[in-house]
Amino acid sequence: MGIRVSQVTKSFSGLRAVDDLSLDVDSGSLVALLGPSGCGKSTLLRMIAGLDVPDHGQIWIDGAEVTGRSVQERHVGFVFQHFALFKHRTVRQNIAFGLELQKWPKEKIRWRVEELLNLVQLQGYGSRYPSQLSGGQRQRVSLARALAVKPKVLLLDEPFSALDAKVRKELRTWLRGLHEEMQVTTVIVTHDQEEAMEVADKIVVMNKGHVEQIGSPVDIYDHPATPFVINFVGEVNLLTGGLAAQGQQDGQHDGDQEIFVRPHELELYAAPQAKSVPVIIRRVVHMGKDVHLELVLDDGQVLHAELTRAKVERTGTPLSIGTRLHVLPQATYSFN
Ligand code: ADP
Ligand code: MG
Repeated sequence: MGIRVSQVTKSFSGLRAVDDLSLDVDSGSLVALLGPSGCGKSTLLRMIAGLDVPDHGQIWIDGAEVTGRSVQERHVGFVFQHFALFKHRTVRQNIAFGLELQKWPKEKIRWRVEELLNLVQLQGYGSRYPSQLSGGQRQRVSLARALAVKPKVLLLDEPFSALDAKVRKELRTWLRGLHEEMQVTTVIVTHDQEEAMEVADKIVVMNKGHVEQIGSPVDIYDHPATPFVINFVGEVNLLTGGLAAQGQQDGQHDGDQEIFVRPHELELYAAPQAKSVPVIIRRVVHMGKDVHLELVLDDGQVLHAELTRAKVERTGTPLSIGTRLHVLPQATYSFN
């Protein structure tokens, strides 16, 4: 058993931050709550932790209902975005904090702290103060402190979002490795879809206090359940006019339906193809291995396309501003 959230609602001054939300997190899995700022991710996490009380619904951890129980009774570890280490305690003392509260014997604390320093790869940093660490190292200490008491679940609220992009990327790879080693049921809150994709077994896409879709990273990307999900997870173009008609390949769509296409699923040709639509290049951005193009249709609609270098070469024409190309959507998405 992992975590079960059953029909949970929480309002703040009449506004529903979390709205009749249900969710299961399998034991030992890593689940990401993904959604825009204000959609209720932190509120949900805080209710799982016991820092907030639901207005309605129940929360279960490890097979036991904990809805009315205190934080201490739930055996959860948590880490927040802003480093919450004690400034005047060393790394060792910070990690030992929860163990001291639980009155572990001194010798056992010493061993446990050394074990955790190894786990978070901070051997040799035990005597330092938080101010003598980098941001990434501090968050690893926060994680060690959260894990020290062997929590049943680990709750992480945007733990890496205050760090720069490179460190953030390193830490999420590291977190995934740590999770595989520890197998602690983990919920991570993030508004960064790449982060969710990279670390999570399952992604819960949230919008306005409810769940839009739950699925593996592949499911969510390849089979988005709603227009919200396709817009939030990965880049997408909304097709209109003639191009939307081209996108309706199976002929079963009605005229009002929204048709979407991913930027990398736009095929570009130098010469017109059957059903292709002419466009003019308005902007070219070189992004290392990919080239991003802004294309304008005759009716003024703008499309974003992403091409690998190999694809650029296959178009057989130099891609510069003002070049005329012919576009054909490969895979499209629509919703009922
Ligand atoms: P997220 O973490 O997804 O950004 P939050 O859970 O923090 O979203 O917030 C969801 C909504 O609830 C927001 O509209 C926010 O302003 C509101 N909210 C959250 N906590 C409180 C609070 N303690 N008091 C009043 N409103 C709150
Ligand atoms: Mg939040």
